[in-house]
Amino acid sequence: MRLCPLCSGSSGNSTYIEAGNVRLLIDAGLSCKRITELLRTIGADPAQLSAILVTHEHIDHIRGINILSKKYRIPVYANAECWQQMRGQLKDVTPGNVCVFESDRVFYIDSVAILPFSSYHDSVHAVGFTVAHKGHKAAVCTDIGHVDKRIIELLSDCELVLLEANHDVDMLMAGSYPYLLKKRILSGTGHLCNEDCGKALVELYHRGVKSAILGHLSAENNYPELALITVHAALEAAGIGDEMQIALAKRDEPTGVFELA
Ligand SMILES: [Zn+2]
Ligand SMILES: [Zn+2]
Repeated sequence: MRLCPLCSGSSGNSTYIEAGNVRLLIDAGLSCKRITELLRTIGADPAQLSAILVTHEHIDHIRGINILSKKYRIPVYANAECWQQMRGQLKDVTPGNVCVFESDRVFYIDSVAILPFSSYHDSVHAVGFTVAHKGHKAAVCTDIGHVDKRIIELLSDCELVLLEANHDVDMLMAGSYPYLLKKRILSGTGHLCNEDCGKALVELYHRGVKSAILGHLSAENNYPELALITVHAALEAAGIGDEMQIALAKRDEPTGVFELA
């Protein structure tokens, strides 16, 4: 299995996963043109995509889906509540490519097992995904709201987890966002801060996760070095140190191809 975050952050999110003959995009939050360019930089072809999986209907996750699906005839998978919200924006997805999954239930594309699990983010019904194939398992988990025991359990034993490190709480509080938006981001249904991401990774390390990518960083309320320092500090404090591999997803270019083998 191979995983590559193509872009990550409030301006657009998309992650490419290849497992056997199956080629998936989780979200497509930049334009079709840009996603196509990003895929080509890693040697992937949009025409070969098996499916686009949608976490939720916020624009930074779905911007390019309508044209991508129409142009390359790609099936789009989302839960029923999400489809209801996206209908207008995804009007050119042909009925045959409208695929509905049930959240919290595994479904298969060929031999790849996909679990869309409910998150706590404030869209109608946001999900994260675990993707498993031939004994390898990875997860994409941004726009999560908060992490609890259920989420830790679901992510256990993943070899690689793309986890949100959205903001630094002090930067957010001191920043220019309106009060209500700050409140929303900080709430249990908003985004995960660097500290909570670090805490979650400590727990995940003890559940077999040895590699993580920090993603969905806010452009205004975080910066890459701070996210890394904060997460590393949490790992150090727990005596884990460098034993967990931590990478950082880039905002608007592929981060690199992570091989699970
Ligand atoms: Zn969102
Ligand atoms: Zn988002």
